[in-house]
Amino acid sequence: MKILVLNCGSSSLKYQLIDMNNEEVLCIGLVERIGIDGSILKQEKDGVEGKLIKEEPMKNHQDAIKLVLEAVLHPEFGGVKEMSEIEAVGHRVVHGGEKFASSVLITEEVEKAIKECVDLAPLHNPANIMGIDACKAILPNVPMVAVFDTAFHQTMPKSSYLYGLPHELYTKYGVRRYGFHGTSHKYVSQRAAEMLGKDIKDLKIITCHLGNGASIAAVDGGKCIDTSMGFTPLEGLIMGTRCGDIDSAILPFLMQKEGLDADGLSNLMNKQSGVYGMTGISSDFRDIEGAAEKGDEKAQVALDAYVKKVQKYIGSYAAEMNGVDVVVFTAGVGENGIDLRGRIASNMEFLGMKLDEESNKVRGKERVISTTDSKVKMLLIPTNEELMIARDTLNLVK
Ligand code: ADP
Repeated sequence: MKILVLNCGSSSLKYQLIDMNNEEVLCIGLVERIGIDGSILKQEKDGVEGKLIKEEPMKNHQDAIKLVLEAVLHPEFGGVKEMSEIEAVGHRVVHGGEKFASSVLITEEVEKAIKECVDLAPLHNPANIMGIDACKAILPNVPMVAVFDTAFHQTMPKSSYLYGLPHELYTKYGVRRYGFHGTSHKYVSQRAAEMLGKDIKDLKIITCHLGNGASIAAVDGGKCIDTSMGFTPLEGLIMGTRCGDIDSAILPFLMQKEGLDADGLSNLMNKQSGVYGMTGISSDFRDIEGAAEKGDEKAQVALDAYVKKVQKYIGSYAAEMNGVDVVVFTAGVGENGIDLRGRIASNMEFLGMKLDEESNKVRGKERVISTTDSKVKMLLIPTNEELMIARDTLNLVK
């Protein structure tokens, strides 16, 4: 079965066409500037040199998906000869609230429930819904599945997801911790068990998804019991442009001092903070590392603070699970940042984590990076959210 995986953002769309007979990616693409001047589609195919590029006006997601469906039929860069070969579509949906603890076949009711979560993810869910509606219009008889970023974290106990706030804010507005990057945490935790040849039920795993957005999860026996992102993807680690955990009393203080309103505060914390805000240099960790090497003190402090924060979460999740067997590193920094990963993974010997410096010198490949006598196994596992979405889609439609 061939499955189209769609990840729709407000003005962009990432897609992969996957043959589930052998989990081979047939083609992979990105549409940018949907609804803006200069709309562009780029598609690549493994083993074929160059790129398919289509610069055509796309006023909405329906236009974009029409073009995607033409592109996947392309004789050189495509993956199918006829549209009817696409037997299912898997959609990434950011927020499933408390309604979805796993992936689901999309029905009218499911779509309504996703719309009810818009309040919780005003930037993401509307784009996901546009993608679903556009597919429904163009491929009316093809089954579609929604795979939620929040679903994997729905196993968290109340003691992990409730804030120290008045309880009625939870019952009235759903103010609680949801967690994000769930598809990635699920994929790498399952893969970790496979790599070690163990049953996931017997493992305590800490998964570190360290990208531009970053989160950590505690996975006990295959179930998420805590994660660092909360009501929104702002909580937790210091990220590219997001501040992560701060004393919330800073917010009323800044409202008074800087005259910021709700939008101003949200912009400050989500887009002007993190390592970018701390340094004024960049949100890209490679740039921060470059500046730190040249002696920039703000960059050095930002990296130190970042490493310390990740270590604090690893330590607290080990405490929460009464131990840890495996620590997994994934996403941009986790997969490629040899130095940062090495710094996080060292200085944690008290927990039984011993880094093998030589094995750590690798980017983007599955590998054990701890020493053979390390009590805790440390693994580098490139995440594959698209494959996870395609697998869930296959399971639900077959
Ligand atoms: P997202 O999906 O959240 O946008 P990614 O998982 O693609 O992010 O991670 C992107 C980040 O990974 C970049 O901002 C960059 O800082 C970091 N990164 C990529 N390669 C390296 C590297 N070699 N060393 C350090 N950081 C890296």
